[in-house]
Amino acid sequence: MDYQQHFVNALERLKGEARYRSFARIERKAGAFPTATWHRPEGPRDIVVWCSNDYLGMGQHPDVVRAMVETAQATGVGAGGTRNISGTSRAVVELETELADLHGKDAALVFTSGYVSNQTGISTIARLMPGCVILSDALNHNSMIEGVRQSGAEKLIFRHNDLAHLEELLQGIAPERPKLIVFESVYSMDGDVSPIGAICDLAERYGAMTYLDEVHAVGMYGARGGGIAERDGVMGRVDVIEGTLGKAFGVLGGYVAGSTEVVDAIRGYAPGFIFTTALPPPVAAAASASVRHLKRSTAEREAQARQVARTKAALADAGIPVLPGTTHIVPVIVGDAARCKAASDRLLEKHGIYIQPINYPTVPRGTERLRITPTPCHDDRLIAQLTRALVETWSALGLRLEAARAAAE
Ligand SMILES: *Cc1c(COP(=O)(O)O)cnc(C)c1O
Repeated sequence: MDYQQHFVNALERLKGEARYRSFARIERKAGAFPTATWHRPEGPRDIVVWCSNDYLGMGQHPDVVRAMVETAQATGVGAGGTRNISGTSRAVVELETELADLHGKDAALVFTSGYVSNQTGISTIARLMPGCVILSDALNHNSMIEGVRQSGAEKLIFRHNDLAHLEELLQGIAPERPKLIVFESVYSMDGDVSPIGAICDLAERYGAMTYLDEVHAVGMYGARGGGIAERDGVMGRVDVIEGTLGKAFGVLGGYVAGSTEVVDAIRGYAPGFIFTTALPPPVAAAASASVRHLKRSTAEREAQARQVARTKAALADAGIPVLPGTTHIVPVIVGDAARCKAASDRLLEKHGIYIQPINYPTVPRGTERLRITPTPCHDDRLIAQLTRALVETWSALGLRLEAARAAAE
């Protein structure tokens, strides 16, 4: 039996569909973000990263770095086991207290990633409610889809952010069956926002529980960085809020926050929590420092919003086809997998600008794009440089420029 051939074939399929992934080797530099070193085969080169999910540059914040280094020196680096087997550190307990407070919930539970928190969190919640039907937004992240699938529960997909469709589906479910609505606040590819309050209205009317992924919003929206639900004044109406510590908080890990009972039940039943080594104390301490900082400081959020608005305006003025939106995510549509990859390659090789291509299956075919994420660290000079580079790339590849627009909003 030639097992090897299966993998050769699988790789050929990826390459045939222009879906083979090649990663640029990037070395971030603390204090110099968004500048980084690109380790090319021909040798290192300084570049500017324009597609990081370290949305606020917290990965290099001195308080966050210090918390990680000092905790590592004090406790060592690893957790030493699962939460049950000596992995419940003071740092992780403090982090959970910080996160419960961030979302105004009784309790929070930390996982090794946002992916794991969705996968094991959603599946555990649904399995604990016999006969549960899950209502899931059509554009939910893969980690939520996996959570829904692993629950084994019946699932109904509602059209993206479509309240009428969600209500129609809710009406069709027997009133006595438990219902769980799973959705996101900021959808990361288009940068659009869900109507959380209106979804909670429907949940209350039809007796459904709500589970909200705020991964692309925590740290960035709301007076204390509690996310879109905090900004919209509806945090208290959402049953479970899930977030990541790896994006705006700049570290690593994921969590759910909710009532004492829901969180305690997930703690006792979720395999993705029980059977894996806990978050290391240095990581937990760094995440706590980041969450704590962003509760008090609005400077990063304000600077991000300002630089995002300037980026959108500069690109729209230059005729670059920016997808309109109200969040920090700036999608520039190319509409073709090969040219999207070519645009990304040219930006990196010719202009020293790193924006990875986003192709099918992450986004629908025909909407292939560059996903730009300006941070507080992308100053006006970098925005001007990006704009020039995109215009040069668009003309070199024969991509269409739009008539200049006043702003992308
Ligand atoms: C990135 C992402 C996750 C996973 O979070 P990680 O901490 O990176 O594992 C979950 N949900 C959404 C919507 C995401 O984009």
